[in-house]
Amino acid sequence: MKAFQTASERVADFVARYSVGARGLIVIFDTSDGFLWNREVDFPAQNQIRWGKEVFIQPLAVAIDEYEGVGIVLVDRATVRLFTMSLGAIDEHIREEFDRTKIRHTKTTGMNRLGSASHLQRKAEEQVRSNLRHVVKDIDWMLAQHGVRRIILAGSPQVTAKLHKILPKRLASEVIGTVDIAISATIEEVRKVSVPVAQKFEWETEKALVRDLVTEAAKAGRAVVGLGHTLHALNQGRIWQLICADGFHSPGYECSRCAALFSVESTSCSFCGSPLYRIDDVVHRAVDRAVRKGARIKVIRSEEAESALMNAGGIGGFLRTVLYVLGMMA
Ligand SMILES: [Zn+2]
Repeated sequence: MKAFQTASERVADFVARYSVGARGLIVIFDTSDGFLWNREVDFPAQNQIRWGKEVFIQPLAVAIDEYEGVGIVLVDRATVRLFTMSLGAIDEHIREEFDRTKIRHTKTTGMNRLGSASHLQRKAEEQVRSNLRHVVKDIDWMLAQHGVRRIILAGSPQVTAKLHKILPKRLASEVIGTVDIAISATIEEVRKVSVPVAQKFEWETEKALVRDLVTEAAKAGRAVVGLGHTLHALNQGRIWQLICADGFHSPGYECSRCAALFSVESTSCSFCGSPLYRIDDVVHRAVDRAVRKGARIKVIRSEEAESALMNAGGIGGFLRTVLYVLGMMA
């Protein structure tokens, strides 16, 4: 109970001094080694305190990684609305109307003189392009402000195609899809059409990631797969991204002294020689350990990618590469 008091005081103190800039803040504190971990998340974290021997990191890591934010840019010729979607929740940040009167010219002015009409048409088109260039700036703002790295373009196909064309490469490469929806759509309608696009992209990303992992592991060098190899690399602090199938669990062993993790029983720890004890789920412990070592976590949840990873051993990781820099002295 004393440990709990120490921990809650320490965390309360941390939160009091912390200026929260995001929607949620998650703090983990371990009294045994003074480990304090925090992360801002762009979704409303429920106020809750958990206390236990095992750190409750895994579901958290899953939530953070799965619900990578998506920015949605809804445009027509004279309006832009910007949304971000995270953890299935959507927010509207900007609704901007450009000067509508200039664009209406095409429809309202007389067509009696063809030359004049096409001149006005050109002017209107130029206005739309200028509006869309403004939208590009808005997108940049949204990406910087909300840490979004995935963009959905929404609106009529003609306008989204125009916008896509003028996007600088760095933004164009972040577009994960387009949806055809009216500028007057409700926020819920925008969410409904965007969720499947974000989900499909996530599935494709997972498939590609597992494919890369397995390929790299086969070549030996940049990645490992399988519980034994992954734990070995993790024990050595070599994992920078841990990839784990959602349904994968396995009993294992932990060193009583240096906390190294093993998939098979042995008489003593291969690092320090201390006795090992059995733990119910070494995978859960591996995720916890990886988070503490600053590794990124990716939990594979889509059916196809998950079964591919299960076939490869359920877990794996990309290794930190060591960069040797050779300098020349002048
Ligand atoms: Zn040991």
